[in-house]
Amino acid sequence: MYKQSLILLLGIMLFVGLPCSCVGEGLDFEALRHKMVEQQIVARGIKDKGVIEAMKRVPRHLFVPEKYRRFAYHDGPLPIGEGQTISQPYIVAFMTEALSLQPHHKVLEIGTGSGYQAAVLAEIVDQVYTIEIIPSLARRAEALLRGMGYENIFVLTGDGYKGWPQHAPFDAIIVTCAPEEIPKPLIEQLREGGRMVIPVGPQDTVQKLILATKQNGKLRLQTLLPVRFVPMVRENDGLR
Ligand code: SAH
Repeated sequence: MYKQSLILLLGIMLFVGLPCSCVGEGLDFEALRHKMVEQQIVARGIKDKGVIEAMKRVPRHLFVPEKYRRFAYHDGPLPIGEGQTISQPYIVAFMTEALSLQPHHKVLEIGTGSGYQAAVLAEIVDQVYTIEIIPSLARRAEALLRGMGYENIFVLTGDGYKGWPQHAPFDAIIVTCAPEEIPKPLIEQLREGGRMVIPVGPQDTVQKLILATKQNGKLRLQTLLPVRFVPMVRENDGLR
């Protein structure tokens, strides 16, 4: 009898305990995050202290769906629903560093996705404006960011190709989906001397990550890395 109840108790503990360990409860996310920053970010040459500190602070696991939470600090992108992905931590750090951000900067992001990149930016600069074309993702990111206490992130649902002219000019622009060429409105909305980081290239190919600096109204382009981002879709692509 005693043995039976012990087995039953063990069974219940396993049953209740398993789903928790599956979603990663019980993992020391802070320790995993610090390890991620040391091994994937600092060891690969990211030097900007603001970026390093921001990556240490933002709880990336809260931006990924529960079933992927235990992989949140792994060295790769993860699905976030609607066929979209949260970028690899190193790419987030690399693109953020390339913007040479200062605390007083106002930044525009195209492709809010999970809201993770926006949170990293908001740890470094005064104001972050971010645009997402898929309404459900925009709503989810906005609610999450608000719940986490970010008051300097403004989320817009819409086509980021057009930028956000009401708040232009921006000191920096970061694009996390890939258009075939740099959208003209974004060039116009970048402040003189400002920097834009953007993956450019046709769908389903490796794209070029470009750093564009605006000088005398024109862009000076520098290719940084080969990358693979989801395509920038347009409002009339049948998505909405
Ligand atoms: N920065 C995100 C990852 C974004 S994935 C993060 O940290 O999680 C790229 C996102 O760009 C997707 O959510 C996709 O829906 C969005 N996107 C694609 N085309 C867009 C457009 N024209 N305007 C705004 N967002 C767009």
